[in-house]
Amino acid sequence: MITFEGVTKRYPDGTVAVDDLSLQAPTGAITVFVGPSGCGKTTSLRMINRMIDATSGRILLDDQDVRAIDPPTLRRGIGYVIQQAGLFPHRKIVDNVATVPYLLGWDKRKARARAMELLELVGLDSRLAGRYPFQLSGGQQQRVGVARALAADPPVLLMDEPFSAVDPIVRASLQEELLHLQSELHKTIVFVTHDIDEAIKLGDTVAVLRVGGHLAQMAGPATLLSE
Ligand code: ADP
Ligand code: ADP
Repeated sequence: MITFEGVTKRYPDGTVAVDDLSLQAPTGAITVFVGPSGCGKTTSLRMINRMIDATSGRILLDDQDVRAIDPPTLRRGIGYVIQQAGLFPHRKIVDNVATVPYLLGWDKRKARARAMELLELVGLDSRLAGRYPFQLSGGQQQRVGVARALAADPPVLLMDEPFSAVDPIVRASLQEELLHLQSELHKTIVFVTHDIDEAIKLGDTVAVLRVGGHLAQMAGPATLLSE
């Protein structure tokens, strides 16, 4: 469970990106943050894994303030997926996914076997594992990004517009894949998007944010659909 308690983020130039945000993202559920560009979605995500720190308020991971956990330890338990998968261009797909296992000191064969399992899990054709990122489509690269984020089996997955840059048909299939994956893995997922349809499709709960970083509404997808 991730809990925001009165979280505010003011950047040094005075911009208030997130304003007194309180909400809970339950364990094993997909919580979606939706709202227009600039409403504080990315800022909120980055405070969870401490790429930035809140100005005031607290974020709890289960019962622990994230600021009491040192960032490397914290990030080992949190997978992070961004819009452009951010793959290492000079490493093969399998080695991109195995990066974290290598860092954790796994032997090469075991790390690669784990990577192949993960690529299968996200629906990537195993024949692509020996290619380099530039040889894959945008949608395929996003699958690899998801596989890489899952490599250390983190309980938490943060996803920042992961499917926004791919065409609508591929996006729909990535969304289905994520729901399928989640039905098996039961991660605590915080998913950021500006697309209300995507929010309704994926969210167990949807937090609607407004520019200025205010929480406008927190509701189940059915409630949002009926409005
Ligand atoms: P979103 O992800 O919803 O597009 P962001 O969290 O990126 O929103 O940004 C929220 C607000 O904070 C915007 O007004 C943005 O311009 C501002 N902002 C983001 N990062 C910084 C920064 N490093 N310094 C100053 N303002 C920032
Ligand atoms: P995204 O839409 O993927 O969040 P942005 O274009 O909003 O990307 O931001 C790109 C980078 O610029 C981020 O690191 C963000 O923190 C920073 N940034 C965004 N808005 C501002 C701002 N007003 N001032 C300074 N940095 C900003």
